[in-house]
Amino acid sequence: MKPSEPARASMNEPPPAMDPEILVLGAGPAGLACAMELSRKGKRSVVVEKDAAVGGLAKTLTIREGDCTFLTDIGPHRFFSKNQYLYDFIEDLLHEQWRQVPRLTRQFIDGKFYDYPVKALQVFKNIGPWKSLRILADYAVARLRYGLLRQRTSTFEDYVVANFGRTLAEFSMINYTEKIWGIPARTIHPDWAKQRIHGLNLWSVLANVVRNALAGGRRGAAAPKSLVDRFYYPQFGTGRIYEEIHEHLVATGTRIETGSEPVAVRHDGGRITEVDVRLADGRVETMRPGHLVESVPLTSFLDLLDPPPPPDVREAARGLKWRAQVYLFLTLDKERVTPDNWIYFPNQDIPFGRTSEMKNFSADMCPPGKTSFFVEFFAFETDPIWAMTKEQVLELVLPYFEKWGFFARQDVRQCYLWKRSHVYPVYDLEYKDRLAVIQRWLDQLANLIYIGRPGRFRYTNQDHSLEMGIVGSRMILEGRKYDLDAIGGENEYFEKGPIYEKRI
Ligand SMILES: Cc1cc2nc3c(=O)[nH]c(=O)nc-3n(C[C@H](O)[C@H](O)[C@H](O)COP(=O)(O)OP(=O)(O)OC[C@H]3O[C@@H](n4cnc5c(N)ncnc54)[C@H](O)[C@@H]3O)c2cc1C
Repeated sequence: MKPSEPARASMNEPPPAMDPEILVLGAGPAGLACAMELSRKGKRSVVVEKDAAVGGLAKTLTIREGDCTFLTDIGPHRFFSKNQYLYDFIEDLLHEQWRQVPRLTRQFIDGKFYDYPVKALQVFKNIGPWKSLRILADYAVARLRYGLLRQRTSTFEDYVVANFGRTLAEFSMINYTEKIWGIPARTIHPDWAKQRIHGLNLWSVLANVVRNALAGGRRGAAAPKSLVDRFYYPQFGTGRIYEEIHEHLVATGTRIETGSEPVAVRHDGGRITEVDVRLADGRVETMRPGHLVESVPLTSFLDLLDPPPPPDVREAARGLKWRAQVYLFLTLDKERVTPDNWIYFPNQDIPFGRTSEMKNFSADMCPPGKTSFFVEFFAFETDPIWAMTKEQVLELVLPYFEKWGFFARQDVRQCYLWKRSHVYPVYDLEYKDRLAVIQRWLDQLANLIYIGRPGRFRYTNQDHSLEMGIVGSRMILEGRKYDLDAIGGENEYFEKGPIYEKRI
């Protein structure tokens, strides 16, 4: 959201002097968790957020249609972490509003539904004995090539073929991944697979199926993270977590400037010295923070630096790409569409990637007797979908939902269209080298901490962004450096116990 145009009189006023001990850019999960932990330790920060509301990608919107109120995340957010500290952090904010939800996720492939986690019998029934045998045979070949003969996995495609065999990888993983990123799987860095499906392979999936059958449907606690079949979700949407933090921060004296953004970040002698912030009323205020915590898109942040970074850093930043999203939200005069939290659509001939129904996360997201339906498209800002109107997008998707019996045109009350840029940092094959050049240079700025999904160009979920914010606050409070890139690395330290405290 753009700040409103400045009024002339206020522009002539001299900007107030402001030297906050800590300035936080971005009020998404990472920035807010940092400010929250600082405030709990008696430190006040100033938080600057471009949008009108806090929560970043994890905010919840309120849609009012007469007497009916619908709530929606911008793409529903399940919470899952193996870090107990984070559960306690949120429970302290939400209390009884923090609830467990059963997970139902399905994939719709070649005209058939598949449960996730996988049900062996259902897969066998849907794909038949020959394809099932081919999946097993391809897996054996893959284990031979990548296990016994130690062939390197240097792309996402290699990684999933090595762990699932070619037939299964192509059946559901490669096409969905290409839909998300808009580039071929052979040009996607294997980091993405390591981050998202670490610990999963055909063997572990089958072992899980057997374990479930033996346990009468109860899934084992030791199952890899992506197979977990319950998750936490706030009663009134994931954004409640961040609204609660906002309220706490305001009540305890933290200054939060929404509708505001940094317009220049000056540095000198290896330190950030001044940040010019354009406030919602148009005035530009110069702040001289002791520490700068930044969680806004890394590439935008680099553009603000004065003097600019050296040419190799600018060149590396130019090569980093972001994937955007288009969202269609429908309110429906219908009790329920499907029982699913999400349905994934990997096939390339279907234009959208995922649908979800907020009611299946919490009944309080819709008025009684009604529901809502959320449709996600992955896009670059140059794609035709980015330029479409809500009416055009509705006409594009409606035939699919009518054909599948989800709902009919007359069930649709209203439709809403939102577009967001900087949603997914693109893990192409060059991203890691480029990021390393940028990080080497940024890390020389002693009082700068850059955190979060956009701030570190890391594909994080809420839990990892929250943890980065919390660890970022500790770096300030303890005057120590922690390895922020190790967060979400799925190593042993992340599994249990207190927050990661490895010293660099
Ligand atoms: C469709 C979708 C579904 C998701 N589902 C899940 C899920 O099920 N579970 C889960 O845990 N996570 C999920 N996530 C991920 C989760 O949303 C992110 O990990 C989390 O929001 C990242 O938090 P962050 O603070 O790092 O970044 P962000 O949420 O991006 O916050 C950055 C903040 O900086 C602000 N900003 C940007 N530029 C400026 C500027 N120039 N000046 C000031 N402020 C600025 C932004 O407005 C934003 O508020 C999902 C994400 C998407 C897009």
